[in-house]
Amino acid sequence: MFDWKQDPHRRYNPLTREWVLVSPHRTQRPWQGQVEAGHDAARPQYDPQCYLCPGNPRAGGARNPDYTSTFVFDNDYASLRPDTPFDRFEQAGLLVAESEPGICRVVCFSPRHDLTIANMETQDLRKVVDAWVEQYSDLGSRPFINYVQIFENRGPMMGASNPHPHCQIWSGHSIPNEVAKEQASQLAWRGQRGDCLLCGYLDLEREARERIVDENECFTAVVPFWAIWPFETMVISRRHLASLDVLTAAERDALADILKRATARYDRLFQVSFPYSMGFHQRPTDGLSHEEWHMHLHFHPPLLRSATVRKFLVGYELLATPQRDITPEAAAEKLRGV
Ligand SMILES: [Zn+2]
Ligand SMILES: [Zn+2]
Ligand SMILES: [Zn+2]
Repeated sequence: MFDWKQDPHRRYNPLTREWVLVSPHRTQRPWQGQVEAGHDAARPQYDPQCYLCPGNPRAGGARNPDYTSTFVFDNDYASLRPDTPFDRFEQAGLLVAESEPGICRVVCFSPRHDLTIANMETQDLRKVVDAWVEQYSDLGSRPFINYVQIFENRGPMMGASNPHPHCQIWSGHSIPNEVAKEQASQLAWRGQRGDCLLCGYLDLEREARERIVDENECFTAVVPFWAIWPFETMVISRRHLASLDVLTAAERDALADILKRATARYDRLFQVSFPYSMGFHQRPTDGLSHEEWHMHLHFHPPLLRSATVRKFLVGYELLATPQRDITPEAAAEKLRGV
């Protein structure tokens, strides 16, 4: 008889309408691949070389103020620029290009160089949430900005160039690929069934409890049934809401709380400052109400079985379908246990 805990199978992601291959039996295989450096060097509270620390000069010539809480500035090496003129190129429907105006910003979470979300105080994380709300509203209110992507790359394994606690915001004219996929799926679901895809999913998870990692009054952290990364999680708001700007004061506090809990669990799992890419998915700021959208965050951490062994998306996964070894249920159990 088929064993979902052992036998190879594939799972469907209703948000992207794509599949993931699950091969639980492969967790037994010996590892002879790349091993990453394991230990975090202790960091000072202030680093005179850091371009994000208070009072320090940045590469572009500007100097940071002596900020004492959160600090937001326009990215000195922005991938998008607001003054980019509109243009479009098309040849035979095969060569298509569009200009992409936008604004890129950096949000320093704290003046302290040595902190992370996991070891910041919840009341200070609340200020970070407030900064996200403010930036989403400010950037999203501009006519040429149709989507505001907030994301954090944590740790050198994820390509973070500076350990100072910070995130980036890239806001632009087009709807990014991943967001467009999720939007189309949520819209189609609502059109066909009349209710919300993620509200329905959250109900199933809260009943099963099998993949839930943590929760508070307003948010649930879950290893999705269709997770690709070994310890991937989603943080989903319990209330059906489309974007950060409609969070109540209590929900902002709860978001700060669940972020600290989720990242602290990650750190405890392999006793290391856990690397990840994290980001929000929410309503585009294109002037439409987007009732189909249910705001959530994704955490995509690369670590597989220890602080030093990471997962790569290569070969079959790059060319065919993403694949995982450990089941989402086993990953959730591990995260719940630390
Ligand atoms: Zn710093
Ligand atoms: Zn919903
Ligand atoms: Zn998403």
